[in-house]
Amino acid sequence: MAPMTTNNITNIKNCFGCGVCSKICPIKIIDLKLNPEGFYTPFITNNDQCIHCGLCRETCAYINTSTFLKPLKSYAAWSTNDTILHDSSSGGICYMIANKLQTKGYDICAVKFNPIKNRAEHYIAHNNIELQESLGSKYIQSYTIAGFRDINLKKNTLVVGTPCQIDSFRHLIIKRKVEDNFILIDFFCHGIPSWFLWNKYVKELSLGKLKSASWRNKDNGWHDSWLIKAEGEKGEIASSYKKDKDMFYKLFLSDTCLNKPCYISCKYKQTKSAADIRVGDFWGKTYSQNDKGVSIVITYNDKGNNILKELSDCTLKEHPIDICLEGQMSHNPTLPKTRSLIIKELKNKYIPIRYILFRMKISHKFHIFIKRLIKHENKNYNLS
Ligand SMILES: Cc1cc2nc3c(=O)[nH]c(=O)nc-3n(C[C@H](O)[C@H](O)[C@H](O)COP(=O)(O)OP(=O)(O)OC[C@H]3O[C@@H](n4cnc5c(N)ncnc54)[C@H](O)[C@@H]3O)c2cc1C
Ligand code: SF4
Ligand code: SF4
Repeated sequence: MAPMTTNNITNIKNCFGCGVCSKICPIKIIDLKLNPEGFYTPFITNNDQCIHCGLCRETCAYINTSTFLKPLKSYAAWSTNDTILHDSSSGGICYMIANKLQTKGYDICAVKFNPIKNRAEHYIAHNNIELQESLGSKYIQSYTIAGFRDINLKKNTLVVGTPCQIDSFRHLIIKRKVEDNFILIDFFCHGIPSWFLWNKYVKELSLGKLKSASWRNKDNGWHDSWLIKAEGEKGEIASSYKKDKDMFYKLFLSDTCLNKPCYISCKYKQTKSAADIRVGDFWGKTYSQNDKGVSIVITYNDKGNNILKELSDCTLKEHPIDICLEGQMSHNPTLPKTRSLIIKELKNKYIPIRYILFRMKISHKFHIFIKRLIKHENKNYNLS
């Protein structure tokens, strides 16, 4: 008998790792695992059981065309509650919306840090105490399987995630004809760094097993909130407050160890979103003097816009979209030639992050030197 054509995710390589294919699989044979570069990748746990229904492929935003709506309205927003504002990454708008929807009976699927597994993961927040764990951005890829599995498609639910996660989720709820039950929020997304960077960083903190971690701490203000605060078995530590002094941020923001699709196949920069609401940090000139935190909020339809109007403990100011986009990336970063070497070094337990940064600096200087030398030689050649 001729082998059946594979109509599942087996042949999809370097995808977003959103895990939505696992949610839709009727046989429940798709899981996510870390690939050798430290990013989640889907795999079939039992090939013999696959019925080749193709549902996993149909929900996948990586291989399917996406439909993006035009922005409806764009705002600056921030919480009037000082504690929420301090603990959030920008203006606390994600939390405010989630909190409001929770009081209206919505389930909330957001992201928390799991210190036992040392990873970010999607989860369902059943009450306000659990919701507080979602506060603040975790700048690592989230493991979605358990959180998405617990979403009841028949219930009203808010889902927050990266634009690629949310795009696949949009495909899923269209396919299942349950779009009306959902509100989806994504954010402007710089990209996700390899889990090996985070793992090495945590080891170098020398705190033993972590109890908690906060990526964007506003103790020194919002504009200098590139401060990681972590608590472990051996105490608490806060990294230096300048982003160029924190090793995690230095490597993450150098764009040298992001997931491959963040360079090659991300289709979500600027306003391109499959969500009802997109949020972000209101960088740029307008709020450069504000040091408590301001969020950008873009709504794409009435559903997204109406929920904002219901927020009582939040300041909302409408701004033209160009002003909101001032500080946001316009293109995907270029895939650097050094990426594989850096990821290899991140996996090597004997190489500290500061060595990787030092080597990068030296090779950059050497590169500039060679370029200047070639330019100089060419000039001499032209003169003679
Ligand atoms: C990897 C990553 C890259 C980002 N890049 C940019 C950028 O380039 N420009 C920009 O303006 N903003 C970016 N953001 C968004 C920004 O950090 C804030 O989340 C945004 O300003 C909203 O702030 P807030 O105060 O409303 O968030 P909060 O109220 O503090 O809520 C944060 C929300 O983000 C969710 N979340 C946290 N970590 C993750 C994760 N790893 N994956 C999925 N969801 C998560 C939480 O569930 C929560 O709902 C990024 C966020 C992440 C996680
Ligand atoms: S649905 Fe997500 S995890 Fe599954 S193949 Fe597509 S991008 Fe990868
Ligand atoms: S940069 Fe794009 S591909 Fe990468 S995690 Fe963000 S949305 Fe997904």
